[in-house]
Amino acid sequence: MDKAKIPAIRPSHFVTLCGRIFHNTDPTYFPCAAYRGRTIFFCTDSCLEAFHSDPKRFYVAHRKSAHKVNVPVK
Ligand SMILES: [Zn+2]
Repeated sequence: MDKAKIPAIRPSHFVTLCGRIFHNTDPTYFPCAAYRGRTIFFCTDSCLEAFHSDPKRFYVAHRKSAHKVNVPVK
């Protein structure tokens, strides 16, 4: 009788700017920064620091994963 499913209220996955995909993980626990009007996530504080030291360069270097940031993964 208890086959109740807990509905996913928010996205259970996200992509960091450096290209890592996390599933069933709460992005709240990861470092993030605002850039170009978006919130960008990072896998570690060192990634965040690298971003802050030169946001434009870091963004360009990771551009190929940047287009996936904050977009649901299929
Ligand atoms: Zn990273």
